[in-house]
Amino acid sequence: MDLTFNESELAFRDELRGWFADHDPGREPEGDEDVHYAWRRDFQRQLADDGWAAVHWPVEYGGRGATMTESAIFFEELGRSGAPLPANVLGLLLAGPTIMTYGTPEQKDRYLNPILTGEEIWCQGFSEPDAGSDLASLKTRAVRDGDDWVITGQKVWTSGAQYSKWCMLVARTDSEVAKHKGLTYFLMDMDQAEVQVRPLRQITGESEFNELFI
Ligand SMILES: Cc1cc2nc3c(=O)[nH]c(=O)nc-3n(C[C@H](O)[C@H](O)[C@H](O)COP(=O)(O)OP(=O)(O)OC[C@H]3O[C@@H](n4cnc5c(N)ncnc54)[C@H](O)[C@@H]3O)c2cc1C
Repeated sequence: MDLTFNESELAFRDELRGWFADHDPGREPEGDEDVHYAWRRDFQRQLADDGWAAVHWPVEYGGRGATMTESAIFFEELGRSGAPLPANVLGLLLAGPTIMTYGTPEQKDRYLNPILTGEEIWCQGFSEPDAGSDLASLKTRAVRDGDDWVITGQKVWTSGAQYSKWCMLVARTDSEVAKHKGLTYFLMDMDQAEVQVRPLRQITGESEFNELFI
């Protein structure tokens, strides 16, 4: 397999390398996690301003329609420059592409741009205390109540939940079918009194992950 970059990949790399050379992220903040997160969020905003926040997204949604190789070049150059991983990494890599593929036109209009700019951060509510690799064991339930859904359950390892406006949450909506069916992917607003975020303190002293009680 030939992994040599072709001409357009080299041009992509050089343009990106030039951008990073012109946008010094400054010294990585130490100590305060909130300050560190704000630093990552600010840098994502700068990337988004110049169309670099989500190179793998289609051009119509603010990306560059990058190939897999170009996406790899992006992360290689990001690391090389010392710039931080975009704050909204789960929105850029998971929520955004899911909404592009399965969302309604209204959902695309509403959610995609704030993901790109980092204005609205997303977290991933999949794992539970008894549902990790075997995600189909999850117990969080969602029940219809008129136009609303009432969700009850617990999630764990929810990275970045403390900064998130939205959660891509998987809950059981039909318990009459096989356990890997009857699951629904919700776009859940985190700004609700019923959503409690409790940090999990790591041995490093940081709290990258959380538990969610809903
Ligand atoms: C850095 C990091 C960030 C994360 N962020 C999030 C997040 O934001 N949101 C979220 O929902 N989750 C998150 N997770 C959780 C993650 O995606 C997995 O769901 C979780 O780590 C796996 O579940 P578990 O810890 O219960 O392990 P288990 O599923 O219990 O697995 C434990 C061990 O058993 C093995 N094992 C499991 N089943 C089998 C089997 N059938 N046969 C053989 N071996 C098996 C596994 O390989 C593993 O070695 C994160 C994890 C990490 C490491």
